[in-house]
Amino acid sequence: MAAIAIVVGVPGVGKTTVISRVVDRLGALGYNAEIINYGDIMLKKALELGLVENRDEMRKLPVTKQLYLQRVAAEWISKRSEEVDLILLDTHLFIRTPRGRWPGISENNIPYLKGVVQLVLIEADPEDISRRRMRDKSRIRSDYGSVSEIEADQLYNRYMSTSISIRYGCPVYILKNEEGKVDEAVEELVKVLERVITDSRVD
Ligand code: ATP
Ligand code: AMP
Ligand code: MG
Repeated sequence: MAAIAIVVGVPGVGKTTVISRVVDRLGALGYNAEIINYGDIMLKKALELGLVENRDEMRKLPVTKQLYLQRVAAEWISKRSEEVDLILLDTHLFIRTPRGRWPGISENNIPYLKGVVQLVLIEADPEDISRRRMRDKSRIRSDYGSVSEIEADQLYNRYMSTSISIRYGCPVYILKNEEGKVDEAVEELVKVLERVITDSRVD
């Protein structure tokens, strides 16, 4: 079973940016790490079913549909090859739906997500996150709210991270992704994940 590090953080904090570079750095160091973007897997199914036209529409679907997509994605993830040292699962501890915050990891998908050994919570200054969301024209994040809501969401993520940590018995590493300092965040995370990989290799 491949070891999994779950990587979370509020939308626009920089998860995808940071971990795409982390995987390259780990590769250069001789480790075989792979990214699975949970939203990509859900989107593939949602597009097949004609439910949405883009990834930012999924969180507005009825929660019953989101639960279905979430479970189908977890089943797919559970069947992934075991030939890697580490899977980095790019996802969310909660999704903002019209009915409120809904968990990204729960009894709906935990039975399929085995091998979780680390949680990485990426954070940044709420004002910086707000500006990143506005600058990033590739996504529609306008429904996410004000700077004070970002602050509240980052706090909510800290609360939720404790439940994941207790459920899997895994540590939570809080990584700051400061403005203009992606390189620093990447280097810091590479060091943590090297340790995760070497720990997982010990019988
Ligand atoms: P989502 O959860 O919505 O997928 P994300 O956490 O994956 O969001 P990214 O798409 O990686 O966020 O980054 C959002 C935007 O912020 C991108 O335009 C990216 O280039 C920019 N960004 C990421 N990290 C930094 C940083 N340290 N300084 C400045 N800009 C950054
Ligand atoms: P992302 O690109 O990481 O923002 O993911 C795109 C979308 O995928 C999110 O806005 C959610 O609708 C969905 N998504 C990602 N991870 C999960 C998850 N663990 N559970 C439910 N939905 C998710
Ligand atoms: Mg992303």
